[in-house]
Amino acid sequence: MFDKILIANRGEIALRVLRAAKELGISTVAVYSTADKEAMHVKLADESVCIGPPPARESYLNIPALMAACEITGADAVHPGYGFLSENARFAEILNEHNLVFIGPKAEHIRLMGDKIEAKRTATRLGIPCVPGSEGAVSDETEALRIARDIGYPVLVKAASGGGGRGMKVARTEADLLDAIATARTEAKAAFGDDAVYLEKYLQKPRHIEIQVLGDGKGRAIHLGERDCSLQRRHQKVWEEGPSPALNPHQRDEIGGVVARAMADLGYVGVGTIEFLYEDGKFYFIEMNTRIQVEHPVTEMITGIDLVNEQIRIAAGSPLSITQDEVRFDGAAIECRVNAEHPRTFVPSPGRLTTFHTPGGLGVRVDSAAYQGYVIPPYYDSLVGKLIVHGRTRTEALMRLRRSLDEFVVEGIETTLPLFRSLVRNVDIQNGDYDIHWLENFLKDEPAA
Ligand code: ADP
Repeated sequence: MFDKILIANRGEIALRVLRAAKELGISTVAVYSTADKEAMHVKLADESVCIGPPPARESYLNIPALMAACEITGADAVHPGYGFLSENARFAEILNEHNLVFIGPKAEHIRLMGDKIEAKRTATRLGIPCVPGSEGAVSDETEALRIARDIGYPVLVKAASGGGGRGMKVARTEADLLDAIATARTEAKAAFGDDAVYLEKYLQKPRHIEIQVLGDGKGRAIHLGERDCSLQRRHQKVWEEGPSPALNPHQRDEIGGVVARAMADLGYVGVGTIEFLYEDGKFYFIEMNTRIQVEHPVTEMITGIDLVNEQIRIAAGSPLSITQDEVRFDGAAIECRVNAEHPRTFVPSPGRLTTFHTPGGLGVRVDSAAYQGYVIPPYYDSLVGKLIVHGRTRTEALMRLRRSLDEFVVEGIETTLPLFRSLVRNVDIQNGDYDIHWLENFLKDEPAA
């Protein structure tokens, strides 16, 4: 096992990793930008190193500074969290070249899944069902028009190097398609430095359902069920829950089995998420995330498995702590991402938390690095914390969420708490009757608070 882990991240995920490391008896090193001097992860770590000024490019994305921090502290492994360098294959390689362990998958798998076209090809080869679309990048307009005619409109133009919903455009007619390709290429070039795009059938009312996997890299892999992340705004997840209100245990076992076999074949190491769109009883692969995800607590609450603990143990060469048969799904869990944003305009609202009172009680978990008096800096994402509730049934989880949201008090900044208070009281949400467009429509229809 490792003696010392450096956590190359900030905020709630840095704290999450720190907690898992401490429970494994491993020392922790926090890194921070000058904007995060007062951050909780810095206060709680055994050691800390300042790695640069506020802009992420000069601190949390600064590989030489992180390598120096490893050297100074004698860390033997690095946990990248999510975002920042978590899906940077080159960072994983550099660590390996310096005899340090990257707590994550092999660099080749990060690279493979980071290229969406290669990821889809690999998924198909491994027997995972994909959205019908172009075989690879589309080279010219004649080809695009021919493929789109085959798939049938509407089609979605997607950036090969895409992420965060950028570089994605819907085309409803042939006339739209050429414009959509041009716009997607420009956006993709600006955001990712790569203008390769591909086409997919645009699904009209899918749910976003993702499967959590764990692999040991030696041919064993298991699945830990699904999370339903259909409630999204601008392709960003807002509310996640498990199990999905749309799946039954048989469907879960079936798709989970397909995915676990595929990951075993690939020799995948660590935690990963296979994301699907789900429509009319069918699953369509969209992408794989080769890291721990923001919404991982949903799975932890219904399986009782500590995913970050597994991640660290697997990276240290230990086998998976459980077999597929030992995995039990218990009750229902819901996560709300509480952001420092206006609940209707979503304008960021950084600043000092004059009051910060979190809910508690049976089945309530708050993953947050915030505290009363803490100042949320304007430089990073606006997540203040995640409220996760668990109940024996979905109905119980919803009632628990409702009372937890009423207990949660944040003053000094705007947060998205009021949005969740209205969502939890909504009949469609209570019935589990929503798809990926539901939230955007809801926000359009409801008068701004
Ligand atoms: P990104 O990496 O940019 O997040 P994804 O491929 O994961 O892109 O897609 C993000 C979101 O876009 C999905 O959760 C879904 O809401 C929507 N989306 C992606 N592909 C399709 C599709 N073929 N049809 C309809 N919606 C899609």
